[in-house]
Amino acid sequence: MTAQQPTKTTCPYCGVGCGIVAEVAASGKVTVRGDAEHPANFGRLCSKGSALGETVDLDDRLLYPEVGGKRTTWDAALDLVASRFSKTIAEYGPDSVALYVSGQLLTEDYYVANKLMKGFIGSANIDTNSRLCMASSVAGHKRAFGSDTVPGCYADLEIADLIVLVGSNLAWCHPVLYQRIVAAKEKRPHMKIVLIDPRRTMTADIADLHLPIKPDGDVTLFVGLLKHLFETDSIDRDFVASHTSGCAEAVSAAEALDALTIVERTGLSHSMVQRFFDLFAQTEKTVTVFSQGVNQSSCGSDKVNAILNCHLATGRIGKPGASPFSVTGQPNAMGGREVGGLANMLAAHMDIEKAADRERVQRFWKSPTVAAKPGLKAVDMFRAVADGRIKALWIVATNPVDSMPDAGNVEEALRNCKFVVVSDVSANTDTIRHAHVRLPAAAWGEKSGTVTNSERRVSRQRSFLPLPGEAQPDWWIMCDVAKRMGFGAAFDFQSPAEIFAEHAALSAFENKGTRDFDIGEFGNISEDDFDRLEPFQWPRRAGAVSLPRMFGDGRFFTLDEKARFLAIGAKDVPRTTQAFPMTLNTGRVRDHWHTLTRTGKSQRLSQHYGEPFAEIHPEDAARHNIKDADLVRVSTGSAFIIVRALVSTRQQPSSIFVPMHWTDQFASKARVDTLVPPIVDPVSGQPASKNIAVRIERFVAEAYGFAVVAQKPKHIDAEYWALAKCNGGWRVELGFATSRENWATLAADLFGEPSNAETIAFHDRQSSRYRFACYRDEALLGALFLAPEPVAVSRDWAVGQLTAPHPRAAARFRLIAGRPGAGATDKGATVCSCFGVGANEIAAAARRGCGTVAAIGETLQAGTNCGSCRAEIRTIIDAQNLEAAE
Ligand code: SF4
Repeated sequence: MTAQQPTKTTCPYCGVGCGIVAEVAASGKVTVRGDAEHPANFGRLCSKGSALGETVDLDDRLLYPEVGGKRTTWDAALDLVASRFSKTIAEYGPDSVALYVSGQLLTEDYYVANKLMKGFIGSANIDTNSRLCMASSVAGHKRAFGSDTVPGCYADLEIADLIVLVGSNLAWCHPVLYQRIVAAKEKRPHMKIVLIDPRRTMTADIADLHLPIKPDGDVTLFVGLLKHLFETDSIDRDFVASHTSGCAEAVSAAEALDALTIVERTGLSHSMVQRFFDLFAQTEKTVTVFSQGVNQSSCGSDKVNAILNCHLATGRIGKPGASPFSVTGQPNAMGGREVGGLANMLAAHMDIEKAADRERVQRFWKSPTVAAKPGLKAVDMFRAVADGRIKALWIVATNPVDSMPDAGNVEEALRNCKFVVVSDVSANTDTIRHAHVRLPAAAWGEKSGTVTNSERRVSRQRSFLPLPGEAQPDWWIMCDVAKRMGFGAAFDFQSPAEIFAEHAALSAFENKGTRDFDIGEFGNISEDDFDRLEPFQWPRRAGAVSLPRMFGDGRFFTLDEKARFLAIGAKDVPRTTQAFPMTLNTGRVRDHWHTLTRTGKSQRLSQHYGEPFAEIHPEDAARHNIKDADLVRVSTGSAFIIVRALVSTRQQPSSIFVPMHWTDQFASKARVDTLVPPIVDPVSGQPASKNIAVRIERFVAEAYGFAVVAQKPKHIDAEYWALAKCNGGWRVELGFATSRENWATLAADLFGEPSNAETIAFHDRQSSRYRFACYRDEALLGALFLAPEPVAVSRDWAVGQLTAPHPRAAARFRLIAGRPGAGATDKGATVCSCFGVGANEIAAAARRGCGTVAAIGETLQAGTNCGSCRAEIRTIIDAQNLEAAE
C-alpha cells in the first residue's frame, strides 16, 4: 500500500462540524488533524475528533449482508427487504411500514430515505434520532419565524459582549465552539458569559455567572426576562412594531409572573435572577446559545419560544454578535432537517401540512403519491411497532434500543416485530441483535457526501478508505431497495453528487425567496465541482452569495413576513415523588459519543471515563450511605441500572447525572434510557430526558473487582461489570452481590483459559483480598484484583502491565501485590487524553508552582493539543490553590 494524498473531510461527531484533514500512511494507519482552512474550526479539533484515526479499524464491523444471522448475498438480502416491505404495504397500507434513521447519515442518504418513504411508499412514517436531539428547536423556530432557520453564525460567538448558554455544556458537547469562546474572551475580557444549567458543568469554568436552575425552570426564567425587558423599557420598539406580531399577548402572559414565583420555580436567588436580567437588558450584543437542556424537555418548544421572544423584543436577531443560536447535537441534524427527515416535515423545508407544498414536491419528484399527513414521531413510532400497527421497520445508522426513552419496551417491541431490518456499521449493537436482516453500511472515512453544521454550513465528507468487505453506502442500499420495489427511475442515482444536485434543485424549485432553504446555486453541480465543493452556508440562491446571518432585514417566512411572539406563561414541571425523590439528568461526557460504537474503540478516549457513573451531591450520598466509588442502584420502579458513584458538588442536592453512553456491550446494567419515561413535548414530540424521577440506593456489594485482560472477555459473571478498551487490551470493573467460594473460576473466565499459560494466585485471608495473574512466557495475559471494598489499585499502572515484559519474579510479585514498584507514581484518573496525563500528576505540578493551564501545558504537555481538558486542568489547579490557602 502506498501513502495517499491528504483528504479534506468533516468530523462525524457533534454539530460543530469541524473540518478534518485525514491521511492514510503506507502502513494503513490513519491520522487526522484539524483543517486550518475550515471556517468551523480553523484547525482546532477536540479530543474525540483528534482520536478518529483510532476508530476506523474493522473490529466489530458488519462486513456482509445477513439474513437470520447467516451471511447472504446483497441480491438475496435486498430482494427480501423490498418484497417484505411491498407485501406489507399491499396488505396493510403504507402506514404499516416505517423507517427510523439518524443524524449520523449524510444529507444524500437522508434525501433518498425521505424521498422513498414520503414520495413513493406514500407514508410519512420516517423519523430520526434527531427527534431526541433538536425537534423542539425546529418547532420553536417554525412557530416564531415561519421556518426552521438558525439565524446566527459561529463568528457571532466571538464578537458578542454577552453569551448566555442555556442547557448547554459546550465545553464537553461542542468543545471547539467552547474553545473559540475561550479564545475570544481572552482577547476581549469584558465579554460576559452566563451559564444556565442545573449542573455546574465544566462549561462553568468560563462563566461569569452560573445560574443553577431547577430542572425545566428555564421557561419561567425567560418569561420573567421578557417582563423585565418591558418594565425597564429595554425593548426595540421599532423592530417590534415593524417586524413582529403577537407581542402584546406575550407580554400579557408574562405579566402575572412575580418575583417570588420566579424564585420558586427557578430555584435561583432573587439577586442572581436580577443580575442576569440586568446583564441581558443592558447588553445589545447578546447571543443566547441553547441545546439539549432546552430541547429535551416536556416543555422544550415553549422554552425555545420563551428565549426567542426575548430576542425578538430586543430586535437582537440576525445581527453581528446578537442572535438566538440553537446548536445541534449531531453532525448532520441540520442536513436531516433540510431534506425533511422528521416525520412532520417535507423535503427542502416545505410543510407536509400544506397541500401546495405537498403538490409541489410530488410534481418535482414525479412521484406516484406523497404522504398526506405527518407520520409517527419516534416515541409514537416505537409504540406502533409494539402494538403491531407497524409490521416492518428499517432502522438505519442508529441504536434505538439504547438511545430511545423507555428503552426496555423499545427492545421488547423490536423483539416482537415481524420484520426488522438494520443497516449499520457495527455487527454488535443492542439493536442489531434483533434484526432479521442486517445490511453492512459504509462507515465514516469510506463514504462521501455532505453534512450541515449548526451554523447552516454545508461541508463535504470525503472518503479516503476503501469499502471493506461488501459494505455499501446507505444511499446505495436505499436506492437499490427502491428499485426492487418498482421505483427505479426516481432512484437511478449513480453518485452522491447526483443526489446532492437534485436536493439543491428541489430547494430552489418554485422558491423565489419564499422559503429559507435554497441552495439552487448547486442544482446542476458536476461530479468534479462536487469533489471540489468548499464549505458554504445556506441560503445560496442561484447566482447569489451565501448569507452568514438570517433575518437581519427583519423579514421572516410568515405570510405577513413578521416574526411571531408566542404567549407563554410560567411553568412548573415537578416530576419527583415521595417514592422517587431524586431528579435524574442524562447527557454526554467529554470523550465519548452516543452508544460507544466508535469512541469505545479508542483506548485513549476510554481513559477519561472508563465506566458508567452517577454524579451525586455529597449530601445525598451521605443520606444514602454512599461513598465515592461505591456502586449505586438508580431505579424508577419499573427499571434500574447499576453504576459507579461519583460524589461531586457539581451536582445539586436531590439530583443526579448519568451519562447516556453505556450499553449492554460495555456494561452489565447501565442503559440509562431504560429509566427515561416516554414523556414528550406535546408540540415537538421530543422526549424529556433531563427531568426524570428516580430513587437511589447503595448497591451492597460483598466484593469488588478490577481486571486488566489482553483479550476481550466473552462472558463476565458479575452483577456489575463495565468494559473499557485500554492499551494492550481491556479494563474490567466488577461488583458482586455475594462473595464466592471459588474466585479462580471467574479469573479463568476473564482470562479466557488460555493454553500454555501459567496462573499465579494470592489470597490474604485476613483482609479477604484475592489476586490472580496469568502469564504466557513474559507477557501478562490478565490480572484480577478482588477486595471487599472498591479496589484501590492504580488503573493506569495496572493497564501499563499489559504491555510491560514480566521476565522476573519480582515484577510478578509487584503485580500480584497490586503495587507499583518504588519510584513509580499513580498518575490518577486521566484528564488529558491526548498525552495521557492524570489528575495526580497535574495536582503535583500545581503544588510545585504551575499556577496556570499554560504552565501545566509547558510542564506536562496536558491541554496543549485539542484543549478539551483545559477546563478540568483549571479546576484541579483551583482545588490545589484552595487547599494551600486553608
Ligand atoms: Fe468533532 Fe469535536 Fe469538532 Fe465536534 S468539536 S465536530 S466532536 S472535532
